[in-house]
Amino acid sequence: MSSTKTIGIIGGGQLGQMMAISAIYMGHKVITLDPASDCPSSRVSEVIAAPYDDVDALRQLADRCDVLTYEFENVDADGLDAVIKDGQLPQGTELLRISQNRIFEKDFLSNKAQVTVAPYKVVTSSLDLEDIDLSKNYVLKTATGGYDGHGQKVITSAEDLEEANALANSAECVLEEFVNFDLEISVIVSGNGKDVTVFPVQENIHRNNILSKTIVPARISDRLADRAKAIAVKIAEQLNLSGTLCVEMFATADDIIVNEIAPRPHNSGHYSIEACDFSQFDTHILGILGAPLPAINLHEPAVMLNVLGQHVEAAERYVTENPSAHLHMYGKLEAKHNRKMGHVTLFSNEPDNVVEFGKGIDF
Ligand code: AMP
Repeated sequence: MSSTKTIGIIGGGQLGQMMAISAIYMGHKVITLDPASDCPSSRVSEVIAAPYDDVDALRQLADRCDVLTYEFENVDADGLDAVIKDGQLPQGTELLRISQNRIFEKDFLSNKAQVTVAPYKVVTSSLDLEDIDLSKNYVLKTATGGYDGHGQKVITSAEDLEEANALANSAECVLEEFVNFDLEISVIVSGNGKDVTVFPVQENIHRNNILSKTIVPARISDRLADRAKAIAVKIAEQLNLSGTLCVEMFATADDIIVNEIAPRPHNSGHYSIEACDFSQFDTHILGILGAPLPAINLHEPAVMLNVLGQHVEAAERYVTENPSAHLHMYGKLEAKHNRKMGHVTLFSNEPDNVVEFGKGIDF
């Protein structure tokens, strides 16, 4: 049997593109399904241009590929179930369903994986908010469809309840206690259905709810870092993980609390392309193919800066002045405000001195 596979990727944005690049390095062929024929992956793979819920297009992709994967979690799981052959989607559709719905996700994390999450309750209407103890702060999040802080309402006083009630009456939600964290961190873990490999702990700084800067290793104690990695491994093992998963967490002074999981490579893991001996995209491809997974080493402390639409010129100027910084541009045609256009990775022991492109400029 040939070791060269045809890999079908649902979604041709930057994550799909970087997965495809890793796959191509390893000698595989990639076909991408994306509504836009000129998506970032079109630079490196054939594209079937069709909406994600087009079952005929999904079937065409499944028929032409040995293995399927996705770059984002809001894929139509039922549509996929209808077209995939046995074992063709090593990540499975169950993981998709868990990460598409915060109610399933919290249940999985707290009851099956048995990791610590913020105390929460399911909210099906504003009636469920009537008796909450307002001496505590909360975040109300819609169960589905939220991203980058959309579909969320922080509740710190009775004045926030009007908006919170409206949100609770518009969709199923979870109400979480607000975590007074020191740092937001994430851990990338990859599995091949049997074994897992885990990346260093990443520290994440957001602006306007969009990841702006990732610092690796995260500036937490070794004890907490080991705990964060152990939590990621526990979740991966509970899932019999295939491919790459990102576990987003909060680090408090003495604990790690899991916020959410993303069943795919993640923006906070992009540094691994240069800073680790294998990237999160390499281990994703190895993992979905069931290949042995390498242990991951961080060559040097690294910082990743996101390049949004409004930062493109600043990033280009930055790498002219700092040629040892690695500029990645995803090939998106239009540089819209807040659109992720690329990122820069550099090695630095002084992450505070690496200034985000947006800082003090446009926020
Ligand atoms: P999420 O969509 O769950 O990733 O939330 C977006 C952002 O909101 C996170 O990156 C945190 O900065 C913040 N956030 C979410 N949940 C909580 C929480 N329970 N306590 C404090 N901050 C939170």
